[in-house]
Amino acid sequence: MTADHSRGMLLAEGATGRQRDKLERALEESRVAVSLDPEMPESMLTARVLLTTLRRGPGQLLLERSGLPASAADELAAVVDAVDPARPLTVVNNAGGTLAVRLHVGADAGSAVRVVPEGYGAHIAGQRTAVIRPARPGNPVGAVYAAALGAAEAFKRTARVLPRRRELHRHLRFCPVTLSSDLAAAPDLPAELLLDLALVGVGAIGTGIVLLLDAVGAAGRVLAVDYQRFGPENIGTYSLGGAAEVQAAPWKTDMARAALSRFDVIPFREPADRLPAAMDARVVPWFPLVLTALDTAAARRDAQRLWPDRLIDAATGDTMLGIHDHEHGNGPCMICFFPPDRSGESAAQRLAAATGLPLERTMRGTDPLTETDLVNLRPEQRHILRPHVGTPVCGLAQAVGLTRLGATAYQPSIPFISLQAACLSVGRLIAARLGITQAGNLAQYDGLFGPQAATIECMPQDPACLCASRAWTIDRVRKIRKG
Ligand SMILES: [Zn+2]
Repeated sequence: MTADHSRGMLLAEGATGRQRDKLERALEESRVAVSLDPEMPESMLTARVLLTTLRRGPGQLLLERSGLPASAADELAAVVDAVDPARPLTVVNNAGGTLAVRLHVGADAGSAVRVVPEGYGAHIAGQRTAVIRPARPGNPVGAVYAAALGAAEAFKRTARVLPRRRELHRHLRFCPVTLSSDLAAAPDLPAELLLDLALVGVGAIGTGIVLLLDAVGAAGRVLAVDYQRFGPENIGTYSLGGAAEVQAAPWKTDMARAALSRFDVIPFREPADRLPAAMDARVVPWFPLVLTALDTAAARRDAQRLWPDRLIDAATGDTMLGIHDHEHGNGPCMICFFPPDRSGESAAQRLAAATGLPLERTMRGTDPLTETDLVNLRPEQRHILRPHVGTPVCGLAQAVGLTRLGATAYQPSIPFISLQAACLSVGRLIAARLGITQAGNLAQYDGLFGPQAATIECMPQDPACLCASRAWTIDRVRKIRKG
């Protein structure tokens, strides 16, 4: 059995401009070596998530064993083989030969890209002279986030992503709880993290959230909502599930239950739009906290109709990832974020609305932006676009903070993108629990550029949305559901 890499290949084609068959062959022949410093806190969790995430894509994976106890190497080989036994992890003393990239889970290494958790955040250092001296040990969120960022660094190199589509990090620091480069700011995880939440969608992002909730040692109750079983196409995009799950085809809700041993998991195996009625009929309880990890704008609007106290939505679209945060009675809801009439707009229409360029111009996306295009714009629009003269117009979406996250075509992304979205979601949840006020209610970035280039915005409530116009009814519904 070989994992389905079609989704990753599609993204790689777009980001590299290379022909699919050539790219596929190059990726399959690429060799990626990983080593780790077993003394570093959370180095095993970081290495485990890094290796299993990489194994969901093509190519050869090597583990350099230096300094690593045999039992640890065996453990890593076993979890990698569980994902895709057709491509086992090769454990070696020294990788030798030509490598696409060498990754080291630890602060000190020669030419490797270093991957180091610190607190909830991570360092990624590709520059040999960058000094990594963590002021605090990494925790499990930091480990998973570091691993997801490390896998992105590997992908940029193995797929040879075009320079204008990526940034190679010389020394990146980022914390998904504070959404800043300050890895020291967020207080430590509480000794006991008790959670009562609904997870709507146990897919590419949802399995990442499950992985994190288990890794941080949380306990409590989870309503797991997903109407599908695990299939072979999910191996290449999810953060849980491997060859055995392809054989057994478990419900995704049961995969959540198996992974969350400290939680009382309530499965709901129907689409999200049936959830409000099931709550009103008391088939399932109402939950004050809802995490959504869904593929469509419509499903997000359906989940909003649960009217929880807090709804944290994680999203991916190609290489973009982000979160939308809703607090009841304070700011926008998912229907404000994803209004039904706007979700049908094309990327060209959205770009035209955001830049002031005429639609017939944004539809010619590959033509570079010229000074002539700027003539009829307002001065502030011209100011924003002038630095991008010469850039193909379709590349402006990133520049003006407009992304594909708002488009209709939500797609499960490559796993390191989905896993970073899951980290932002769980990071937001932890920030709320720790009483940290994060800036904005929308944060997003391109996973090939990195979180240092994130757009963080404070979106307003739409006064025409039903969360405003029917606030009184919504409050009554909430009271009844809360019982
Ligand atoms: Zn609203």
